[in-house]
Amino acid sequence: PTLRNPEEWCRSFSHFIAQCLIKDFETRPSVTHLLEHPFIKQAHGKEMALGQQLSTLICEQQDLGCKLKTKHERINTRKTLIIETSPDDDLVNLEFLDEETIIKHLSKRYDELQIYTYVGDILIALNPFQTLSIYSPQFSKLYHGVKRADNPPHIFATADAAYQGMVTFCKDQCIIISGESGAGKTESAHLIVQHLTFLGKANNRTLREKILQVNPLVEAFGNACTAINDNSSRFGKYLEMKFTPTGAVMGAKISEYLLEKSRVIKQATGEKNFHIFYYVYAGLYHQEKLKKYRLPDKKPPRYIENQHGKVMQDIVSSKLYKEQFDAIQDCFRIIGFTDEVNSVYRILCAILNTGNIEFTAITSQHQTDKSEVPNVEALENAAALLCIGPEELTEALTSHCVVTRGETIIRTNTVDKATDVRDAMSKALYGRLFSWIVNRINALLHVAESGMNVGILDIFGFENFKKNSFEQLCINIANEQIQFYFNQHIFALEQMEYQSEGVDASLVEYEDNRPILDMFLQKPMGLLSLLDEESRFPQATDQTLVDKFEDNLRYKYFWRPKRVELCFGIQHYAGKVLYNVNGFLEKNRDTLPADIVVYSLMDLLSKMVVGQPHFVRCIKPNDDRQALCFFKERVMVQLRYTGILETVNIRCQGYSHRILFEEFVNRYYYLAFRAHQMPDTSKENAVAILERAKLENWVLGKTKVFLKYYHVEQLNLLLRELI
Ligand code: ADP
Ligand code: MG
Repeated sequence: PTLRNPEEWCRSFSHFIAQCLIKDFETRPSVTHLLEHPFIKQAHGKEMALGQQLSTLICEQQDLGCKLKTKHERINTRKTLIIETSPDDDLVNLEFLDEETIIKHLSKRYDELQIYTYVGDILIALNPFQTLSIYSPQFSKLYHGVKRADNPPHIFATADAAYQGMVTFCKDQCIIISGESGAGKTESAHLIVQHLTFLGKANNRTLREKILQVNPLVEAFGNACTAINDNSSRFGKYLEMKFTPTGAVMGAKISEYLLEKSRVIKQATGEKNFHIFYYVYAGLYHQEKLKKYRLPDKKPPRYIENQHGKVMQDIVSSKLYKEQFDAIQDCFRIIGFTDEVNSVYRILCAILNTGNIEFTAITSQHQTDKSEVPNVEALENAAALLCIGPEELTEALTSHCVVTRGETIIRTNTVDKATDVRDAMSKALYGRLFSWIVNRINALLHVAESGMNVGILDIFGFENFKKNSFEQLCINIANEQIQFYFNQHIFALEQMEYQSEGVDASLVEYEDNRPILDMFLQKPMGLLSLLDEESRFPQATDQTLVDKFEDNLRYKYFWRPKRVELCFGIQHYAGKVLYNVNGFLEKNRDTLPADIVVYSLMDLLSKMVVGQPHFVRCIKPNDDRQALCFFKERVMVQLRYTGILETVNIRCQGYSHRILFEEFVNRYYYLAFRAHQMPDTSKENAVAILERAKLENWVLGKTKVFLKYYHVEQLNLLLRELI
């Protein structure tokens, strides 16, 4: 550097220092060393102010050097791990952003095993379908209280952001994980719990261990092997981790939604019952307790019989099931369950026996609609396990009461009716057992003191099968609600801020799914209200139900296909789904009325709205569960309907950075004013800076400068050039 012009000199000199620092962390010059440098000495001699400015600058650069050094060390100690940041870590940083580009980047990153990518504050997680080494304790340390940009995107960073948000702003947080079945929601939820337990270092090691057992235990009862996912969650789960104001873990609370109870009695081809049935059967077999729990060992229990009928051998010889049973026993013990566990096994075995009860018709002159149980073994087993008399159970299954004009009349059940009652009983037993376990866990992890929360929502993704029933409808309505909440947060709030600042909000355009939600939830004419109403009519049939829908639902999102009997179609935000109403009325009567379920979901949403949300969008790159296999079309569809592409657009077209005038002037005044002349933090001075920096397309709100995503990059670049 020459000394023709002190300012220019200053700039190039600091540039030189920065170069040294960046190139060589180890031999970085110390401050005293630098002050001895002839350039500095000359500068001191010429102009004291400049010298001072330089010293500050050097300190700042030193700081930068230290940061770089620690990062360098971090990289060195973990040679095998990719922890380098890259410009496409956050898609909104990219210069050109169309669907093609986004897919190209995601695909490239996936090939390099960078499964995580940010879109602004949303985390995209591509399912790797292989075990990665990025969840070790070293990684937990790496993602602990650092700036997001310091490390590559990671699920731990999202957990860390929620944790820091909670501790810094004393505000509840919630992490909403969404995606199709098999996209990786449940795995993500586990990783978040793992990292939050690390961050909230409870002194109490036992508590940490307990919390880590909650997910495996609940999932043994609520997950099952489906055609899509070997460990598919068949219930919605909201786990709240409770912290003290200083951020130490105190406990946890779990809420469950919409358990798919119909799975207990019947599974689609290639699918299985809830895991726990297999674990318990295998576990008890190996402990030689089949007799004690009255489990059949010759004929396989119907409820867990698979298509080939060779289940018994499969289950009994499966080492995995036996190990899982041991693991579940450990979970029970660590969380604090006592002898109650035996009752849990009794109920499960009672359900398996109940499934084996068969009925035959008794035809006599007077009665043709009577049934009986020809072989009483299963019935006696079930009754004994439930501690009731076999006669009582027989009566409950083969007859029912009708109240007519104040009189109670006992009627007999046909074989079909008795079979339905048997299955309904099994479903009810399982449903209640599941709720009881969840409540018991909550009681055991109960925390009296009020503290702060990080909630984690892991709920089934949007479902669209060949045949869709009541369960899919409930799941898809829940997803509509989650999407609505996402839209609210990402788009509607953005729009509101534009409006309150007097900036044109038409840039924020998005697909609002409110009208579809109204179609489902409105009273008294929404789909769910109509369903509840019809469920109350004893004469109602599937036909009257679907007619009622057609007569009352005048929405473009609803249609009745011509040639498909008893079906109706819905245009969901995520695509068209054809529902078959077969069994709707029965299922709606059997479960809580749909209305109440959706209430409870609303309740959940209102809870979440209070907290600061963080979104994780899980994406399934292929349908074959193959590692390193990225199907563009599949990814594109998921990006489209989850609103990711719109989000990227808004971030690009809209003004992603909105900075208060005061803050803006403080940050960038170097660009338009002399370094030692701190100007007023006024709107006018903000404009002066923007003009001097030759930025285009910015706008001014009432209190804030509205900048595009690339402006901040430009400003920082100018600032860097200057120093
Ligand atoms: P979802 O809950 O969305 O239905 P899961 O979380 O159960 O999906 O994931 C399905 C499967 O994908 C898991 O059983 C696992 O094999 C794999 N998987 C998902 N996320 C990861 C991950 N981060 N690392 C390794 N495997 C994963
Ligand atoms: Mg799941």
